[in-house]
Amino acid sequence: MSIIKTFIFDPIESVALDYAKKHLDIVDWTDKGINNYSQAEAVIIRTFKMTKEVIDKMPELKIIAKHGVGLDNIDLDYAKSKGIKVTNTPLANINSVAELVVALALNCAKKINLSHQLVTQGISKIAPFELTGFEIQNKTVGLVGLGRIGTLVGKKLKNGFDMKVGVYDPYTSKQKCEEEGFIKYEQLNDLIKASQVISISVPLTKDTENLISHKEFSLMEPNTIVINTSRGKVVDENALYESLNQEKIFGAALDVFAEEPVSKDHPLFTCNNFIGTPHNGANTKEALIRMGTGAVDEIINISSNN
Ligand code: NAD
Repeated sequence: MSIIKTFIFDPIESVALDYAKKHLDIVDWTDKGINNYSQAEAVIIRTFKMTKEVIDKMPELKIIAKHGVGLDNIDLDYAKSKGIKVTNTPLANINSVAELVVALALNCAKKINLSHQLVTQGISKIAPFELTGFEIQNKTVGLVGLGRIGTLVGKKLKNGFDMKVGVYDPYTSKQKCEEEGFIKYEQLNDLIKASQVISISVPLTKDTENLISHKEFSLMEPNTIVINTSRGKVVDENALYESLNQEKIFGAALDVFAEEPVSKDHPLFTCNNFIGTPHNGANTKEALIRMGTGAVDEIINISSNN
């Protein structure tokens, strides 16, 4: 294998960068030469946009290696038409996202953010009534989507916290659910009515946009927590706001928003039963190393097989 000239357009974790430099001929984002990328044979990108115009400036380009999962910043059709291989690292961040779901579920159930806020404002008595939380043990977590992340969330909450696990995923078999010890629901409405924690892990498609909206919130019991770490537009933020503001549900946490980065003036931040995080699910050291080294491995594998 010849050492392939690779441009890294977005910052990557230092361990992964060292690994890349050991195996590839690297020009990284700190290098002044980054603007002259016409010699690139491979690129590693996170959010950098690989448009037709950018691709056209790289006549030698053979591989676009996405550090992460979503390929929406790449003109896939154009890359394919030029014979350029596109890779990603779909398994690298699932544990980090699943851990965030667990953290957010516990945070909402125990009102940790609100507790911190009230303590720092000055509090006159211990264990105040308005901070009463609930135990998740023996409650049901409803998984909307049983892919890589949903499955891991279910395992962690079942095995670690003795939760019952329900699933709504029309593309997953009853057998797969049963193998995991989960219960499959044919109707989203029935899953919603049965769940105290609802965790959403689906892709954004025309079928999943606003999948959780006014009707779905109206079916939830007052002690329900909703967590979305998938894509912002899957949850109707206006409907969520109404539900939280009128305390129709116990709480909610979003790691993803319809518009990102989310504005500090978003109405949801006025609800004290709401927690927001800035699309931070994959942002752990371990996941960043796996995504970076995984992207490098993809380039090595493809170039050695050609
Ligand atoms: P996956 O492709 O493995 O699983 C998605 C699941 O959703 C599949 O089982 C599919 O059958 C199911 N699904 C599709 N349409 C559905 C519908 N209408 N109703 C119910 N289920 C449906 O994906 P994944 O790796 O588990 O990722 C899930 C989501 O998490 C994706 O949107 C991904 O972009 C997002 N994500 C977010 C972060 C973050 O930082 N917050 C990080 C990684 C991934």
